[in-house]
Amino acid sequence: MQQNDAQLPGIINQPAPDLGVTHWINAAGEPMQGYGLEQMPGVYKVIFCFQDACPGCHITGFPALAKLVEAFKGSRLVSFAAVQTVFEDFEANTFDRAAANQLKYVLPIPFGHDAGQGREGAGSVLMERYRNGGTPWFIVIDPEGTVIYNHFSVDAERLIAQLKRPAPGVPQPAPDANTLTWRGVMALTREGNPAPPRRLELDAAQWHERLTAEQFRVTREQGTERAHSSAMCALFEPGRYGCVCCGTELFDASSKFASKSGWPSFTQALAPGLVAYHDDSSHGMTRVETTCNVCDAHLGHVFPDGPAPSGLRYCMNAIALVKT
Ligand SMILES: [Zn+2]
Repeated sequence: MQQNDAQLPGIINQPAPDLGVTHWINAAGEPMQGYGLEQMPGVYKVIFCFQDACPGCHITGFPALAKLVEAFKGSRLVSFAAVQTVFEDFEANTFDRAAANQLKYVLPIPFGHDAGQGREGAGSVLMERYRNGGTPWFIVIDPEGTVIYNHFSVDAERLIAQLKRPAPGVPQPAPDANTLTWRGVMALTREGNPAPPRRLELDAAQWHERLTAEQFRVTREQGTERAHSSAMCALFEPGRYGCVCCGTELFDASSKFASKSGWPSFTQALAPGLVAYHDDSSHGMTRVETTCNVCDAHLGHVFPDGPAPSGLRYCMNAIALVKT
């Protein structure tokens, strides 16, 4: 029997709504708050919806999820969340069953529990927003935030191959000799940065005179602005991005891309010697700090999960940059 689109479950090809899930445990099984799509670090996001008392979830759902999670272990390409979307048997499908399944299937990913908390007897919010057909249910969201797959089952091997393949039609330029890659960044942090084109050295009082309090905090005291705090994230006009402290042009707008991280992101600096790279083991993480090589302004960090050709993601504080 033919069904028209209005009767089919799911929201394929539509923008992914907020998950609306309020109860979470992190990958280590500890309670956490405020989790959702924005906190999921992957370029692609896979949401697995289940109920503990749903046999199909255990027979096909969790085994497929475990394969997917294993295939992308340690990769930033895909991140996962499992959500118990309760719409029946509220007595059996409880929050502690989410944690039990995280352990049972050895899945080091966040688990949510969504029984429509605060809307007594109403059932899962996620399910309503995504129009899930039931459980198990797989949702895949692409880098643009569009739902590209939603269905009761998934062919794990095929999905793994599809996600690992570059997007069709998107040219994937190879890095040339002038393109700095992660290997080059690592070498610079070990061996030192090239000489800057010029130097500007001022003392703290002089920087205070030139900068706002927030500009000073970020650039001179290694601060980080709040994610999604700047309209610069969504700015893709041609031009250059310079250091807010000394005006040195650091990035061309052509290397800027939509990362959804909440900070302006670039794949490449304008030229060698403008940005300096430093090992940063603060806050319990091993990262590479980037500074302006002319005036030592803290700009942000660089990560190895950016698009081709460099594979780099310069994750910059918008307040450290000026657009020209
Ligand atoms: Zn500077």
